[in-house]
Amino acid sequence: MPKKTKRKLAHPKLPIQRHLNLQHEGRYFDLRAIFDRLNERHFRGKLRGYRVVWGRRRKQRPKEYFVFGTIQEEDRVIRINPWLDQPFVPRWFIQYIMYHEMLHSVVPDEIGPDGRRRVHTEEFYRRERQYPGYRRARRWEEENLERFLR
Ligand SMILES: [Zn+2]
Repeated sequence: MPKKTKRKLAHPKLPIQRHLNLQHEGRYFDLRAIFDRLNERHFRGKLRGYRVVWGRRRKQRPKEYFVFGTIQEEDRVIRINPWLDQPFVPRWFIQYIMYHEMLHSVVPDEIGPDGRRRVHTEEFYRRERQYPGYRRARRWEEENLERFLR
């Protein structure tokens, strides 16, 4: 403990709020603003108590597939892959990724015929396609996926 105290004292003026902000404020995009706007527009403000954060930056990009975002229902945390915080990524693409994760919180999971839990259900895809920017975002994803893989 004493050693930890010493390190803390090296940044005595850093307020807690500021530290928390760093998690949703990227260099180019503020996830909190994106979340709040989508919540009002598409979910009638129903999503409460969610934290939206940039995930940890990995040293290497993946080879096979890229996880743009995740949602952890138990803790109400939505994580967006920090590789998306780049100037070539359109804001509307991040909005779509966020919308997809938010949709998980309102569309229930189902148990498939094989007994496994499914999160991307028919109903989920139906509602995802209703998102106004859906087709544009999917096309952009297809055309730009290479830039996220190695
Ligand atoms: Zn999903």
